[in-house]
Amino acid sequence: MKTPKVKTGKNYTAVDVGPMSELSSYVIHHPRLGERPGKVFLKEHLGSTGVEMSLGSLAVGAGIPFLHAHKQNEEIFFIVSGKGQIQVDRDVTEVSEGSVIRIAPAGARSLRNTGAVPLVYAVFQATEGSLSQWTSTDGILFEDAVQWPA
Ligand code: ZN
Repeated sequence: MKTPKVKTGKNYTAVDVGPMSELSSYVIHHPRLGERPGKVFLKEHLGSTGVEMSLGSLAVGAGIPFLHAHKQNEEIFFIVSGKGQIQVDRDVTEVSEGSVIRIAPAGARSLRNTGAVPLVYAVFQATEGSLSQWTSTDGILFEDAVQWPA
């Protein structure tokens, strides 16, 4: 089973999961389905405290074989590459590279690949209603010029 490379610094954690074409080397243990290749959860590797992120890959013809919802987390699905369909409460939406879908905790959801190449996607999970500041209200702009090592 593959594990990501992790580099940490004082104020960051950098995780390298490798090429998206090799996501199927990651395997999770699903409570109902057992070993499931093509999925990696990153919270433990990132040490993130407000967001869970995962990456997934569905082979041609494959889909997430169950519906699920959440108790308190909303999810944002970001389609990295490929083509498919996402359903939320049986409402189906076509998705492809660049599609971004936000799903409220109660939505019964699933995703499937309807294309000719693997469907690669990222999922971000955070407590619904927890975002109190964003972008310009939360950002702190430094006056110093950016410097890169030579
Ligand atoms: Zn979920």
